[in-house]
Amino acid sequence: MAQESRETRREKRKLPLADQAEHRPAPRRRHPDWIRTSLPTNPTFFDVKRRVQELDLHTVCQSASCPNIGECWTRRALTIMILGDICTRSCRFCDVATGKPLPADPDEPRRVAEMLAELDLEHTVITCVDRDDLRDGGAAHWAETIRRVKQACPDMTLEVLTGDFKGDTGNVDVVLGAEPDVFSHNLETVPRLSRQVRVQASYPRSYKILEHARAQGAVTKTGLMLGLGETLDEVREVLRECRDLGVDIVTLGQYLQPSPKHLPVDRYVPPEEFDALREYALSIGFPHIESGPLVRSSYHADGQAEMVRELRRNKARAALS
Ligand code: SF4
Repeated sequence: MAQESRETRREKRKLPLADQAEHRPAPRRRHPDWIRTSLPTNPTFFDVKRRVQELDLHTVCQSASCPNIGECWTRRALTIMILGDICTRSCRFCDVATGKPLPADPDEPRRVAEMLAELDLEHTVITCVDRDDLRDGGAAHWAETIRRVKQACPDMTLEVLTGDFKGDTGNVDVVLGAEPDVFSHNLETVPRLSRQVRVQASYPRSYKILEHARAQGAVTKTGLMLGLGETLDEVREVLRECRDLGVDIVTLGQYLQPSPKHLPVDRYVPPEEFDALREYALSIGFPHIESGPLVRSSYHADGQAEMVRELRRNKARAALS
């Protein structure tokens, strides 16, 4: 389907945000110099884009208007988004369309596997929209997708970035049962701002999901956006909490306001502060952190296959001892 008509469809399905008073447009701020990205010109970018369209897949790179798309897709690194492109939630930072989703497409796992086999990556991330309309939150579809991808790409490590399944750890177990190499779930922000940023989610519920995945022996990962009004002390506290929990990988990136309807940027965090937070995270024992203004959950994940294998080996050894 042509990109233009698909985007038009998506715009039409967008619902008004729940609380217009709180969502009133704020004047958009000009990004500082360190946020600049360039337009894609590399043929690989356009090849990837064409195949995504031909296979009627969705990517969070496109749906969330990720600023890194030119850089990532030029390396063939993309983040496929399963279970459609309409989310049942309306997080105030996210550009993915909110509305009533279509039924899950039973052929989607096959097409995801076909696309990833063609890309021949060492590591990839798959994510999803939240499907609160489905009894299992999409867990069975997730498991089928993971199985298909692992079958088609036996040498690739696979990271799954899921929602919170409304706190149902049984659904997390269905996903983990398909044996992804990394289980990722984003806390997104510090506890004080969580309700304001993720209207239908909560920090304790997300924490519980990570805690559960960790207790099942999974390599776990989470991410936070900065620049929403949090303090650096609050960020350091979340990092400590995640490390105490045993989370293995963390990402920190600058929040960028996708449109005037979304939360405004409170502050552009300078690169030096991201560097200091990286040092801090390493000093408290995180095996890996990506921290920088343009970092997103999946940014540079394509180069982390070896590190992921090492983390899995360590966990397997720890489970035996
Ligand atoms: S950072 Fe992630 S979401 Fe953004 S373009 Fe790269 S792979 Fe896609």
